[in-house]
Amino acid sequence: MSVAAVRRRIAAAAASVGRDPDAVRLIAVTKGHAADVVADVVLAAGVRDLGENRVQEWRDKAAALPDDVVWHHVGTLQRNKVKYLAAARVPWIHSLTSARLADTLEAQGAKHDHVFTALVEVNVAGEAAKQGVAPEEVDALLAHAAPLAHVDVVGLMTMAPYASDPEVARPVFRTLAALADAHDLPERSMGMSGDLEVAVQEGATMVRVGSATFAPDAEGDHS
Ligand SMILES: *Cc1c(COP(=O)(O)O)cnc(C)c1O
Repeated sequence: MSVAAVRRRIAAAAASVGRDPDAVRLIAVTKGHAADVVADVVLAAGVRDLGENRVQEWRDKAAALPDDVVWHHVGTLQRNKVKYLAAARVPWIHSLTSARLADTLEAQGAKHDHVFTALVEVNVAGEAAKQGVAPEEVDALLAHAAPLAHVDVVGLMTMAPYASDPEVARPVFRTLAALADAHDLPERSMGMSGDLEVAVQEGATMVRVGSATFAPDAEGDHS
């Protein structure tokens, strides 16, 4: 279904700036969609990276889906839920937002002999309603996480301000990429259904795409 449309959008955006589309990992955000729909729409199209933002919903869904799914926890993560992610060896955490959460990931990772691969969420635009550390706090959180054996921070993540014009996101994504560069972090998780082209143009290595993945294809589009 529209995984193909999302892939075409990624490919066109990558081509517009001379990037390799394979350097952008598509994470299908499956929150709110039942396991059978996820299997039909997303797994059948060859996507293996799935994102969920509620641990209970993820647990129910993961039990019904194949073991080779690569799970990404995106968005707010409560510390008391980390134990479930550690026990199931969920590899990716996109929203590391505090030293306390890093310590919980470390403790639960150690208990289950699992290393989390993590991204620090940055509140680039300084929005009061959004979580994430301020750009000037990234250094301190990276320094805190550096000695943790079960938390491997490999990049940064951000969510752009909600706007109908995706260009509003461009300076936010550009700032995140510059911050990642400055800290020698290879991964940049940025871009969602409404602004993925801008994110890819600004160097996203992972896009988190929910609604566009599940939207019906446009009339006459049978790919
Ligand atoms: C839901 C969600 C997405 C996907 O959003 P869409 O606009 O549906 O593509 C991406 N990232 C996070 C953290 C989310 O919660």
